[in-house]
Amino acid sequence: MRPETKAIRIQSDRSNNNEHSVPLYLTSSYVFDDAEDMRSQFAEEREGHIYSRYANPNVEEFIQKMAALEGAENGWATATGMAAVFTFFGAVLSSGDHVVSCRSVFGSTHKLLTEILPKWNIDCNYVDYDDYDGFEAAIHDNTKAVYIETPSNPGLDIIDVRRLSAICKRKNVLLVVDNCFATPLIQQPISLGADVTIHSATKYIDGQGRTLGGVILGTNELIQQVKAFARHTGPALSPFNAWVLSKSLETLDVRLERHCKNAFEVAKRLESHSAISKVKYPFLESHQQYKIAKEQMRYGGGIVTFELKSGLEGGKAFLNRLKLFSLTANLGDVRSIATHPASTTHSKLSPEQRLEVGISNGLVRLSIGLEHLEDIWEDLQQALD
Ligand SMILES: *Cc1c(COP(=O)(O)O)cnc(C)c1O
Repeated sequence: MRPETKAIRIQSDRSNNNEHSVPLYLTSSYVFDDAEDMRSQFAEEREGHIYSRYANPNVEEFIQKMAALEGAENGWATATGMAAVFTFFGAVLSSGDHVVSCRSVFGSTHKLLTEILPKWNIDCNYVDYDDYDGFEAAIHDNTKAVYIETPSNPGLDIIDVRRLSAICKRKNVLLVVDNCFATPLIQQPISLGADVTIHSATKYIDGQGRTLGGVILGTNELIQQVKAFARHTGPALSPFNAWVLSKSLETLDVRLERHCKNAFEVAKRLESHSAISKVKYPFLESHQQYKIAKEQMRYGGGIVTFELKSGLEGGKAFLNRLKLFSLTANLGDVRSIATHPASTTHSKLSPEQRLEVGISNGLVRLSIGLEHLEDIWEDLQQALD
């Protein structure tokens, strides 16, 4: 089956009711046939469901689909994207280990790497996304993993996964890719040489701004480690959210097609607006890593960023004039969303620190939704004018 079909046709086994669409299994625990069945499942001699912190049919279905789409051997699902990031690090890192990360990563991931993991004597070094020699030089004997986002949030920087994976393989460290902005239907990091992909399923995978969720995908061996950690620390994805996310995967491909078509067109039109100094979109020829983006991505994604000539105040004024776009922190929703990182998510950083992670005062991030292209454009145009 091709990925678009897998996203629809992989389903957990039918129950005795012969349902066509998989029902919701809202149960916190499962019964055993007898005392011996119970003993053998607890002893992990026999696979089965024991408790929904460990396993649930809806969660398993979601994992199975995601693993098939990412080309991974196995996976583990979590309550949020950040739970996936933390669970992965918690499972594979020990005190004294070291992580190398690209400089521009999601805000909470940055907090985790710089303020939370050091509590357990795990340190991190940051490298610019395009400094491949820098990545190589930052990997020390105690480095366990290189962590990247591509495209990055909100910078839309692209890292050549094949090139970086060759460095990681030579140095014997894991390459972990947060694939949230692309989804497996646009880019499959494992097929490009990464060891692990992580998702916030909250974004395009749900796609309608309803639920939080996360997933970690990789080899069986790594996932067994993750499982051993997660069973006893409890970041489990709720069955209801897993059920929503599984259904959402069925429409991911058609949604992405529209998100990306609208976003590409908006990016092209923005490029010629006089209030804007720069537009960034992976599939615009003016993007610095256009060639790499075209090689490793199927579409350019649904996120467009641009810089207003009028800076910090201009950014806020632009947001205030939008009528259709939502001002909200989510992305990958059916509804178009605009954010101004300098006055919100990154306001605590100094202008210099912001520039280090690729955020100028006038930077606006658009998550282009599924509304009619001309309605999206008219709103942007009136606010810009
Ligand atoms: C949103 C996001 C996360 C965190 O996911 P949550 O589901 O909000 O916990 C991680 N990485 C990226 C790139 C994101 O956009």
